[in-house]
Amino acid sequence: MYKATLRDTVILAAIALLVPTCAPQAQEWVGPLESITEAELRDHIHYLASDFLEGRDSNAEGYMLAAHYGAILFGAAGLEPMFTDSSGAPTFFQQIAFTSARVGGASAMRATVEGASKNYSLGEEFLALQLFGGGELSLEEEPIFLGYGIEAPDHGWNDYEGMDVSGKIAVIVPGAPTRNGEPVLPPDQHAVYSNLGRSANARVMSAIEHGVSTLVVVVDSASTGLWDEVTRMMNQPSVRPMPSGAPQEGGERSSAWIVMIKAPQAVDLLSGTGYDPVSGGGPCTPGPLNGVSIALDLKQDVERAFSAPNVVALLPGTDSILKDEYIVVTAHLDHVGIRNGQIYNGADDNASGSAAVLEAAEAAALAPAKRSIIFVLLTAEEKGLLGSMYFADNPPVPIEDIVLNINLDMVGRNSPDWPESLLAMGSENRRPELLQLIRDVNARVGANLDWRLNEGSDPHAHVQRSDQLALMQKGIPAILITRGFMGPDYHRPSDDPETINYPKVLQAARLAYALALEAANREILFDSE
Ligand SMILES: [Zn+2]
Repeated sequence: MYKATLRDTVILAAIALLVPTCAPQAQEWVGPLESITEAELRDHIHYLASDFLEGRDSNAEGYMLAAHYGAILFGAAGLEPMFTDSSGAPTFFQQIAFTSARVGGASAMRATVEGASKNYSLGEEFLALQLFGGGELSLEEEPIFLGYGIEAPDHGWNDYEGMDVSGKIAVIVPGAPTRNGEPVLPPDQHAVYSNLGRSANARVMSAIEHGVSTLVVVVDSASTGLWDEVTRMMNQPSVRPMPSGAPQEGGERSSAWIVMIKAPQAVDLLSGTGYDPVSGGGPCTPGPLNGVSIALDLKQDVERAFSAPNVVALLPGTDSILKDEYIVVTAHLDHVGIRNGQIYNGADDNASGSAAVLEAAEAAALAPAKRSIIFVLLTAEEKGLLGSMYFADNPPVPIEDIVLNINLDMVGRNSPDWPESLLAMGSENRRPELLQLIRDVNARVGANLDWRLNEGSDPHAHVQRSDQLALMQKGIPAILITRGFMGPDYHRPSDDPETINYPKVLQAARLAYALALEAANREILFDSE
């Protein structure tokens, strides 16, 4: 019907696009690196970031048009599919079923103090949020009071000292410690921790690292902004891949719950400690809350949301032994779709990286290397790195055989601090070797790299903020190529093909190709193996 017809039209258009690149025989032969041209990258970006694809939201038809385009080009380049569809036919699509979950209205909380029980009502008197994972929670136990929940031993304060909260319900209160009326923490830290909104992240992360099952945060009257923010987060469904049958190695990703209650609702709960959550006065000493129990029955309403594929293609290696090791080259193909009636075309983010992967794949197929290379256009990055997480949890080859990831994200615009340059950055595992690999390869490619963020620490934490993170979490070294995650038109409807710096995309595509090829051909990839 309408959608099918639309898709068929596009597939025909994409095939037509291929014709000129399929007939190079009459022309002078060019090497694989030179086969990557600005003109081809321009074609890919103008198609992927056209209004026709409506911003490539992974739950919409526009994303499927982009995915088919990628699959057609991978096939035309001679790459091999790694999956089979429901009829058993080979396919470039790694299909992912996504669910949408939100905290269920039937979720309940009850606190009992010295035999007297109080039920809290969801949304009014308590909020509940699960940061990762999609589990439910049902338990009743004596909670542990963790004081301010501040873990800052370098600054002379640690509420976790001597406390074992693993698997337990812990309760924390807002504020920062004082001694004889003077702040204990240095002034800047004291200012941060005195504001629950500014310090909530740090407090929650400490609790998660200590393995709490549930962190109950008492919210003071000065933190209504935080309460409103968490209310919004609680009411917004979160999208995640449907759990696949077998449990993942290393268990589920952390599934702690965060519960919030307002200060007046915590008075009885904390009465045994001498601390008054309304005034913030009295001793704030961690310890068990004797005579108190908290019962939680937290539900998730989960429904099937949509399916979308990663587009995955294999270029088999030529060496009988090394071909069982894999370099994985990735870029996310999705973007954020349509918002308030405006199409977010995502030319830079990330039609640019996707185009570079398509061209790198075509070039690599001209002269395969010793190791195998897997090219992947990832879905649902914009919904929280979901496509790459799924790929890392469900790899088409044993995860330990993946020896390097090269990821491209946003390679087409000029960032304010290094306008004409690209960044090429290595993950912390094997960082010196990765930087050396980049230097060696770029001596031939000649991309204009800004090296400053490789020399010190990166205040923007680029390497933690795109799809390579999913593979790094499996222990795989990764290289990110980007123009930098900031600057003009970032996540705006004005991220359009005509704003792209095409020579820069060309450099990124050639660098990605040359890095993959060099890594795939080295007898020993890393010296210290
Ligand atoms: Zn992106």
